Amino acid sequence: MKIHEFQGKQLFRQAGVPVLEGHVARTADEAAAAFKKLGGSIAVVKAQIHAGGRGKGTVIDNPTQKGVVIVKSAEEARAAAAGLLKKKLVTIQTGPEGKTVNRVFVEAGCDIARELYLGIVIDRSACKPVLMVSSEGGVEIETVAEKTPELIFKEPFNPAYGLDAFQVRKLCKKLNVNGPAAKSAATFFTSICQFFVDYDCSMAEINPLVITSDGLMVALDAKIIFDDNALFRHPDLLELRDWSEEEPSEVRASDAGLSYVKLDGNIGCLVNGAGLAMSTMDIIKYHGGNPANFLDVGGGANAQQVTEAFRILLSDPNCKGVLVNIFGGIARCTTIASALIEASETIGFTVPLVVRLEGTEVEEGRKMLAESDVDIISAVDITDAAKKIVAAVK
Ligand code: ADP
Ligand code: MG
Repeated sequence: MKIHEFQGKQLFRQAGVPVLEGHVARTADEAAAAFKKLGGSIAVVKAQIHAGGRGKGTVIDNPTQKGVVIVKSAEEARAAAAGLLKKKLVTIQTGPEGKTVNRVFVEAGCDIARELYLGIVIDRSACKPVLMVSSEGGVEIETVAEKTPELIFKEPFNPAYGLDAFQVRKLCKKLNVNGPAAKSAATFFTSICQFFVDYDCSMAEINPLVITSDGLMVALDAKIIFDDNALFRHPDLLELRDWSEEEPSEVRASDAGLSYVKLDGNIGCLVNGAGLAMSTMDIIKYHGGNPANFLDVGGGANAQQVTEAFRILLSDPNCKGVLVNIFGGIARCTTIASALIEASETIGFTVPLVVRLEGTEVEEGRKMLAESDVDIISAVDITDAAKKIVAAVK
């Protein structure tokens, strides 16, 4: 689960991770009031969307309106907010259709001496979270990783003990952070690592992490992703979820207990088991097709779930055919066959349907389909299925 920058910064503040003062605004008037409340002579109006690259991003049909704007008066704050709110902002991470800005964050202006980078992810091979910092902040870290990987410094840490003092000193030395800034870095690095563990994050990224002209380290940006599998431990976080930022078909699928990820190809896939779903997508690609989605109906899929899965697949206008690839292990092929028949009766299939069934009660399942009026192309194995669906959508 992703959250907005302003929400991340609220959590940072509670956890002792230094941030600047700021207020969220839903209207231009609120943005002007927020500027006055901050009481400074300079502030920054920042579009709140679940995507980075806002500083360089622009509003559709208004290329002069950037997603992050420095303002010097309440009037300027009002104008910047008016230029962003209810508009679509396009950044390198949103795709060309952009994302609608529903809120802006008005934050105190920062006198930046240095821009650094900080990220924490789980290092699966080390089985630990790893803190990564770089002197090359503010720019795209992917470019740094590709061209000058030696400028990214990594410290894995034990989640039970947090980051050690010697690790802080090591990183400060590498970043050439000295004096009061090093003291501030100790607070920052330790508290952000603790935050990552306490909230079961899967990613935390602060770009830029800045050192102010007063030698303080503060988070100027906050990108946080929580591990969905651990959300049950944090019921308080659920209210931070912004459904408007999520793909509607994915929300619908999760309500029905299906794992669904929308993709941009034209072959809908209905599969049971994540591993089989991955290999189905691979083999479609191998035979020259493009999957429209990843969909795992799970081991114990019932008729309602399969019907809902078809509804979701067929509601995607890009979906020009569906490949059903089921291995009856826990789920029986007869259950899937009757769900297919029921789905075809209630929603009707408008696109070619290739079905490959294997496993428990497969003969009975195939017979049920053969005797029904469902118009299917049956396949004997996974290669045959992939070839047939690729041919059918061409
Ligand atoms: P994004 O990563 O989406 O572009 P950021 O929050 O990183 O958005 O902001 C983009 C840039 O705007 C930053 O690199 C920084 O230079 C500047 N900036 C952001 N917040 C402030 C602030 N409070 N004061 C001064 N400059 C800021
Ligand atoms: Mg940023």
